[in-house]
Amino acid sequence: MATVAELREKLRRPLSAELASGCQNRVVAGGVEKLLASPLGNPFPQVREALRGYGEWSADAREEALKGALALLSDGKEKPAAVKATSRSAVPAAAPGERLPPDAPVERLNTGPGGARKLQSLGLPLLRDVLHAYPHRHEDRRALPDLAEVEEGQKITVEGRVVAKSRRSPRPGMLVIDVTLETPAGGRVKATWFNQPWVEKQLREGARLVLTGRVKKFGRSVQLGVEHLETVDGAQDSLSTGRIVGVYDTREGISQEFLRRAAHRALETVPLDDYLPAHWRRQYGLTDLGDALWGMHFPQDEQHLSRASARLRFDEYLFLELRMLLQGEDAVLEGKRFNARSDDIHTFESALPFRFTNAQRRVLLEITDDMRSDRQMARLVQGDVGSGKTAVAACALYLAVRDGYQGALMAPTEILARQHYANLLAYLGPLDVRVGLLIGAMTPKTKLEMQARIAEGSVDVVVGTQALIQENVRFDNLGLAVVDEEHRFGVQQRRKLLSGRPDVLVMSATPIPRSLALTAYGDLELSIIDELPPGRTPVETKLIQDTFRAQAYGFVMGQIREGRQAFVVTSLIEESDTLELLAATQLADDLKVILPEARIDLLHGKMTAAEKDFVMESFRRREFDILVSTTVIEVGVDVPNATVMVIENAERFGLSQLHQLRGRVGRGSAKSYCVLVAGEHSQKTRKRLKIIEGSTDGFVIAEADLKLRGPGELRGTRQSGIPDLRLADLANDTQIIEQARELAKHILAHDPKLEHPRLQYLRSELQNRSQSVAFREVI
Ligand code: ADP
Ligand code: MG
Repeated sequence: MATVAELREKLRRPLSAELASGCQNRVVAGGVEKLLASPLGNPFPQVREALRGYGEWSADAREEALKGALALLSDGKEKPAAVKATSRSAVPAAAPGERLPPDAPVERLNTGPGGARKLQSLGLPLLRDVLHAYPHRHEDRRALPDLAEVEEGQKITVEGRVVAKSRRSPRPGMLVIDVTLETPAGGRVKATWFNQPWVEKQLREGARLVLTGRVKKFGRSVQLGVEHLETVDGAQDSLSTGRIVGVYDTREGISQEFLRRAAHRALETVPLDDYLPAHWRRQYGLTDLGDALWGMHFPQDEQHLSRASARLRFDEYLFLELRMLLQGEDAVLEGKRFNARSDDIHTFESALPFRFTNAQRRVLLEITDDMRSDRQMARLVQGDVGSGKTAVAACALYLAVRDGYQGALMAPTEILARQHYANLLAYLGPLDVRVGLLIGAMTPKTKLEMQARIAEGSVDVVVGTQALIQENVRFDNLGLAVVDEEHRFGVQQRRKLLSGRPDVLVMSATPIPRSLALTAYGDLELSIIDELPPGRTPVETKLIQDTFRAQAYGFVMGQIREGRQAFVVTSLIEESDTLELLAATQLADDLKVILPEARIDLLHGKMTAAEKDFVMESFRRREFDILVSTTVIEVGVDVPNATVMVIENAERFGLSQLHQLRGRVGRGSAKSYCVLVAGEHSQKTRKRLKIIEGSTDGFVIAEADLKLRGPGELRGTRQSGIPDLRLADLANDTQIIEQARELAKHILAHDPKLEHPRLQYLRSELQNRSQSVAFREVI
């Protein structure tokens, strides 16, 4: 735990750097106030107060205030208010019945010993964070099923006491724990855990458990394939049983029950004043904030949950839109003005081994229009994997170079950077464009050389990773920057690039509806490539039951014998990286037994970026045959020699995700295959998976998925991947997004700075939300 002096120093350093660099509010990503709103600022309320409003001040006012703040820190006048380990009683917990503001630290919430620490470790330092850490799904535990009537494959939740427990080790290194649970109605269920020694202490005899999973029937006895386990201690069970219950993101050692209790306390303790004036709530048919927050954490029924979710989703979009529009104020910037001559487009196209598709042509026109104007281009090109985005971007880069500028292409990982580099060399090399590569893995000497060439303009197009936006890379004359988005770059990083004022093109393969793309990338114009190049042999997809796994892997082995490679993807396991890793490891081990001839390696989410790159690179070099992985391979790496993908427990994936995964094969000329292995599943799930079997069009799949999911269904796993949007259901929210956008525009049209007293709460909520997001980016 940090000492007072250390904490003070941690805060002092960025503040004095800010002072030294002329008080431009640039030193800290997201700004000085965001730094102070972070846990780092928590112990220093006086400093925080002294710099409140910093973002809006003149440089002189900033300088003066910074000096004051630094003085407070250096002579120790500012006594930390809440240094966790050193002063346990510094933050008095709320007295019973006392109300606390949303910005109070969680130490003030009565959550039992270690409670505050647990919440902080989940990234929830303030009460507002607890209120807005919504469950990622809900389980209906009102009427638990009659065990005599459950059906094979049905997903159920049961509650009961452990009446019998045994452990066995059928072969060395394998641990099986069997538990029999007796429900209050006297029914019995058997559940089994393989190789999960850490769950054992929760399974002692007499413990009360809530289990969720799929039913397997053996005659009259019911077995459960457990997907979710909770222990309930009698005193608290009213939050965890007999109702619709939220399931939260957590980590080992922090129970669902604890999180529910914390949420409950926070709801009781914070006055839930609504920041959205009543007439707007009426206009958009939204419930009030209190009802919404209660309904999200502790819904009375489905209707309550759905109106809660509608309101909170609306808010997320509203704040996102407001922020985008507010930032957008200065976003219409002067950029480069290119000629972008048609002759050059023709030259580029004649050097290609193919003709552009109509969609590519249309998008290229949109891009060249932007390039020819004075305004800085900020355009998102969205298109399915393989739709030809990179080819279009290469053409734009060529045009920039022909006009005497440099171009850059930024990729999220080194391996993708190398891949783009190879592609651009192929496109642009023959046209006498000098293409360079700059990535972290290069030797310092090569890096320096490349940096020097970039600075003197003796390289025309540079491909790289984040290394490209680092301080010591100076372009001679950067005109166009292409960013291969693939989810990894944040808005901040994009802006950093933007600040050099090149035109900017972002590429993304995520098939999301237009209205949503506008929201998620509100600062970008949108172009869509909605057509694949002709002559692709679509990936042949087959859905099979897991009882036919052996045949599936027999087929995989056949492909390997022909010199091909295969991806095997393991199912996503909710709530735990560790479990996911274990599942992947287990699968790799199993495959080594089933396919002794194959060379098998493993890729998973707990690896560092460099480790992942290393494994991917050796897979690309055909150093092994089967890559077993968790879903991290979604990122767009080309392995043209991989012709098969097996997706285990396909029923657990979303359709769009399956589609993205499948896009990893079929990238070479050989015919490719995707095998979806389904475990126990319902008719409905089967119908859903059949969509993937029947179509290879990302937009068709997203649409069909949307239609199949009934409106009454309880919300599933998180989907958006966009940090501000925790609840967003991208496919379904078009209408809400449009309404939120309309309201945001309306608000700012009448009150561009949100100064009206009636909007005071809205304004501070907007600031607070931006701060918590920015904080995550700072860290
Ligand atoms: P994306 O960046 O959208 O994944 P790419 O631009 O990398 O797509 O194109 C995928 C593959 O298709 C590449 O091998 C590329 O050469 C090829 N390609 C691109 N456009 C066309 C086209 N119009 N006709 C035929 N092949 C194309
Ligand atoms: Mg691509």
